[in-house]
Amino acid sequence: MSKQHPRIMREKKTVDAMVHIYCKGHHETKGELCPECAEFLSYAFMRLDKCPFQEEKSTCGKCLVHCYQPQMREKVKKVMRYSGPRMLLHSPGLALHHAFDGRKKPQTLEEIRKKRAQGPA
Ligand SMILES: [Zn+2]
Repeated sequence: MSKQHPRIMREKKTVDAMVHIYCKGHHETKGELCPECAEFLSYAFMRLDKCPFQEEKSTCGKCLVHCYQPQMREKVKKVMRYSGPRMLLHSPGLALHHAFDGRKKPQTLEEIRKKRAQGPA
C-alpha cells in the first residue's frame, strides 16, 4: 500500500467506525461486518485511495466530486444518517475531527490543480 496522508487515514477510520455502528444496529453483527457492509467498506476505502483531493479534501458528504456509484451513494447516506449522531458516543475524538474536517470548504478539481501547479506555499 502506498503512503497515505493522515487526513485520508482519519477519514478511513471514521468510515470504518460508522459502518460498524450501522452494521451492528441493522444486521445484528458483533465486531465483524456482514458481507454486504464489508463490501461497502472496501469500496469506500478504494474511493478514498483514489480521491484526487487527498489532504485537501473536505468530508465525503460534502465533496463536490460525486465519485460513488449511485447504489453506494444510497448506502453511504443511510450509514451516515444512522451512525453520524452515534459517533459522538462511540468515538467522540473521531466525531470531533470529522466535524472539523467537514468545515473545510469543498473545492473543485480545478482549484486543486491550480494550487498544485503553484507549488507548495
Ligand atoms: Zn451489515
